[in-house]
Amino acid sequence: MTADDVAAQLAVRDLTFAYRRRGAEELFGGLTHTFTPGAVTAVTGPSGRGKSTLLYVLGLMLRPVRGEVHVAGRRADTLSDARRSAVRSERIGFVFQDAVLDPTRTVLEGVLEPTLYAGRPTPEGRGRALALLDRLGVEARADHRPGEISGGQAQRVAVARALVNDPAIVLADEPTGNLDHDNATIVLDALREAASTGRTVVVATHDPFVLARADEVLAL
Ligand code: ADP
Ligand code: MG
Repeated sequence: MTADDVAAQLAVRDLTFAYRRRGAEELFGGLTHTFTPGAVTAVTGPSGRGKSTLLYVLGLMLRPVRGEVHVAGRRADTLSDARRSAVRSERIGFVFQDAVLDPTRTVLEGVLEPTLYAGRPTPEGRGRALALLDRLGVEARADHRPGEISGGQAQRVAVARALVNDPAIVLADEPTGNLDHDNATIVLDALREAASTGRTVVVATHDPFVLARADEVLAL
């Protein structure tokens, strides 16, 4: 197995999460699952079942109350906040459901921001950001502010931002939620393309269009 294959490994064991330690509803019920590198896995289930929460736990933003999260073959949920942030910025691209872009930056600056956290503000990063914006059909918006673009465009910019560091793992929360059919196709093709080169792509969704095109489905 190559180093890149290891980087894309993502698995959970006996996973349970609750927003409060006592008295809160428990989510996932001891979920054990290994996500397949090279595949788009759709996480589905009724509203409120915990799709978004699972992505936050996989993205090391929330810690489970029980169970384990393994990233790149190593247990990650027990790491310190700083180490989890480092793992996240090195290995994970995250598309938030309500693509909140910094209103003070241009679209291009917003897409480049993860390259700064990763310590890699290079000309290549800029080229890559522009290529991704082009791939997602929003390159003409590179110099605009978030207030000047539509919700659907913001969602495509958020996908470019998640891919800019070339992460081995991509987590996307309802990435086609605000999109018409053509733009949903663009976003899904970009995510499928990311998976086709060995990345692990996990998409929380209840969109039948996405479910029909996912390689695997994990129902919560
Ligand atoms: P889904 O994405 O499947 O709709 P969520 O992961 O958003 O589900 O939510 C799962 C459950 O956790 C829901 O009952 C929701 O109300 C609850 N929940 C979500 N976020 C919070 C929070 N920050 N604090 C407390 N409860 C939350
Ligand atoms: Mg959700």
